Amino acid sequence: MCSGDQRQEKQFSKLSQERTSNVDNGNSYSWAPVWKANEMQSILHETELPFASTMKLILIFSALFGAALCLETFVGHQVLRIKTRNEEQLQKLQFLETLDHLELDFWLNPSTPALPVDVRIPAHSLQAVKVFLESHGIEYSILIEDLQVVLDREKRDIVASQQMERSSSTFNYGTYHSLASIYQELDNLASEYGNIVSKIQIGESYEKRPLYALKFSTGRGNRPAIWLDAGIHSREWVTQASAMWIARKIASDYGNDPSTTSLLNNLDIFLLPVANPDGYEFTHTTNRMWRKTRSKNSGSLCIGVDPNRNWDAGFGGPGASSNPCSDSYRGPSANSEVEVKSVVNFIKNHGNIRAFLTLHSYSQLLMYPYGYKCTPPADNAELNTIGKAAANSIQSLHGTTYTVGSICTTIYQASGGSIDWSYDYGIKYSFAFELRDTGRYGFLLPAAQIIPTAEETWLGLKTIMEYVRDNPY
Ligand SMILES: [Zn+2]
Repeated sequence: MCSGDQRQEKQFSKLSQERTSNVDNGNSYSWAPVWKANEMQSILHETELPFASTMKLILIFSALFGAALCLETFVGHQVLRIKTRNEEQLQKLQFLETLDHLELDFWLNPSTPALPVDVRIPAHSLQAVKVFLESHGIEYSILIEDLQVVLDREKRDIVASQQMERSSSTFNYGTYHSLASIYQELDNLASEYGNIVSKIQIGESYEKRPLYALKFSTGRGNRPAIWLDAGIHSREWVTQASAMWIARKIASDYGNDPSTTSLLNNLDIFLLPVANPDGYEFTHTTNRMWRKTRSKNSGSLCIGVDPNRNWDAGFGGPGASSNPCSDSYRGPSANSEVEVKSVVNFIKNHGNIRAFLTLHSYSQLLMYPYGYKCTPPADNAELNTIGKAAANSIQSLHGTTYTVGSICTTIYQASGGSIDWSYDYGIKYSFAFELRDTGRYGFLLPAAQIIPTAEETWLGLKTIMEYVRDNPY
């Protein structure tokens, strides 16, 4: 069965917050079914309804639109790139961010005037936002004219390659896949490369999906190991896809490529390709733009926690939201998300993880701690040197340029992030990658770029892994 989308949840939570004593008009369900969504919406902002009517409305609303919500459409949504010139303009954007009824989805948050802001704007808010920007003299350009057109193309690509895969019975690393298909390929890799690859389960998601990691190992015992995860933010599809390509690359290069062979003769690698499987499944079945987990929030109808604001590192500090309806909601407490807690437990139990690497998209950044504070980490100089070397490796293949720095100095202050936790836990070599692109497609990177992205990312990762191998601590 399909469940509600974020917009609907936002609307409902607004409704329940807004309910007050008022005269029951008594006929809410007789007129409601004939209303169109946008008309209903404007009324919901203007009319306060008693609780019973609110509940009836919710039921009617669900019944009316439930079927259509299976795969949410984004017809007429635009993604704008906004460039602010000063603090004052930035504050104007931060104000926009607080206006829930606009239903803006910030792909890149307003942080400093130096960085662009990318925002998805639903059709019904477009005019208001553009007028707002123009009236304040804020520059913008249109990155994506109609999001649905891009999504339709993505869907067509997936369907076409699924047909090819069925006829050839092989996993196409140059396309996007369902969770089931990714999990099937993990089994294939483990059986094809049984001498060095094994599949392990490190936990279970909120909706009870297994959290599978691949272990690459050539030795017995608890060797020093590298952790690598992808897809903690579910809509960042190029990360899960790159992780899969990298998994096969590591397995197939062992014994053939001297560098990878040497790595695996000294270190183990743990790779979690889908760190947020509930969210990932949801991006395929219901809402392509879903970022968070799918856990229920007590006291709110909004679903999910931002799993990269949920780690026990400056939890609850700046750069995370306390609002369950926000895309950067930190959750009720550190490690409240079982997906986060499972990784924390695994790393603590393992006891010999020497590097923590995590893949996000997009922006082409390679970042190290801290995010929850802006003071440099003790190993700042060393991390910066490694980061720059990795960025050079990335650039050497297809010319893709990366910016290197701490999270706080490179993007913005953000608390509860994974690499801050791993670093403070004692894992010195902690890095977060933001893969392609720089905003042309954002989260909707065309499948044709998956393999080039994975290839260059692997070179960057390998540079870090070689350093870890050669610099035990
Ligand atoms: Zn992310």
